[in-house]
Amino acid sequence: MPKLNENYLNLKESYLFSEIAHRVNSYASAHPDKKIIRLGIGDVTLPIGSKVISQLHEGVDALANAETFKGYGPEQGYAFLREAIVDYYMRNNIVIEADEVFVSDGAKSDTGNITDLFDKDNVILIPDPVYPVYVDTNIMNGRNITYIDANAENNFLPMPDHSVHADIIYICSPNNPTGAAYNKEQLKEWVDYALENNAIILYDSAYECFITDETLPRSIFAIEDSKKCAIEFCSLSKTAGFTGTRCGYTIVPKDLSFTASTGAKLSLNAMWNRRQTTKFNGVSYIVQKGAAAAFSVEGMAQCKENIKYYQENARIIAEGLARKNILYFGGINSPYIWFECPNNMDSWDFFDYLLNNAQVVGTPGAGFGKNGQKFFRLTSFGNRENTIEAIKRIEKLF
Ligand SMILES: *Cc1c(COP(=O)(O)O)cnc(C)c1O
Repeated sequence: MPKLNENYLNLKESYLFSEIAHRVNSYASAHPDKKIIRLGIGDVTLPIGSKVISQLHEGVDALANAETFKGYGPEQGYAFLREAIVDYYMRNNIVIEADEVFVSDGAKSDTGNITDLFDKDNVILIPDPVYPVYVDTNIMNGRNITYIDANAENNFLPMPDHSVHADIIYICSPNNPTGAAYNKEQLKEWVDYALENNAIILYDSAYECFITDETLPRSIFAIEDSKKCAIEFCSLSKTAGFTGTRCGYTIVPKDLSFTASTGAKLSLNAMWNRRQTTKFNGVSYIVQKGAAAAFSVEGMAQCKENIKYYQENARIIAEGLARKNILYFGGINSPYIWFECPNNMDSWDFFDYLLNNAQVVGTPGAGFGKNGQKFFRLTSFGNRENTIEAIKRIEKLF
């Protein structure tokens, strides 16, 4: 009999979104006449812009000709896409190099797979509440996690405790689920803390495109000295509507190296390259053609139009909550609105209450960690009409 990875026994029983689906489905079959509005799962709904679509088509056509046909591509991504990403960062005044960019099928895989580079024994800091992938992938590897509290008192932006040592620090900004985003001074403090501790920051910037406050950093690499202590994960999922198309990228600076127990210097860029070339065979040429178009000036302008639509939805939700004096976070630099459940309700009770009385589906904060127990997440990824209707129904209840 194979000895199984029993760390799986330590995972929470079901994925958050399957429990939500289960409750929504049983409500829907009991009440077939009710119109349910889903503002729960963080998935985009608008179609992909025409610049990207035309390049996806070109990618397909290239495969129809012997002269332009593509088989296996470089595991790290085609040069044209790596360079388009470098250029996009340059337009945001951030200098990175093409061989620091690794193209992948998405940030979920990369944020999970990065655990391959680290030993089991590390002090790992993960904020609570958090995107569940960071937690579960470390539990699968049998690692211990030290949670840092994100709560209303610190505006869901926890700062380092300089008296506590860490080796690996996860940061997601703008944050899923809370919508909170760090400013430059705050991120600088995290970078300083990482350097003090000879630690690494694993920075998830999947929502950088939702930043409207121009003073906020869109990348950890906007912070001085961060290339000595950070890896950045990003994705086209929310930026370009690629949740189904699948493409992301990870930036591993060449300056990033640590000393092994043998005394050898280990470059994280070289290790990630080794990991990817061994276990990953690249993203399809078609998708990379489309992705490169998203990073062009015109393509990004189209992406931003979709994002503006979602941002208007976020504003509508936030204003509705404000009218009811409900404490909320996010919604300005993020597609998520994170609010305190009214009447001190627990988040799953509030989920049921909202489903039963307003037929609105959101995400209970408890699914993201203990500090989410009294909070609830709504997304701005719905259509305008449904968003307006949902907030009207919620306002009527309180
Ligand atoms: C949506 C999301 C991603 C993107 O994941 P993909 O695999 O690229 O679709 C990454 N991180 C967070 C926190 C997210 O919410």
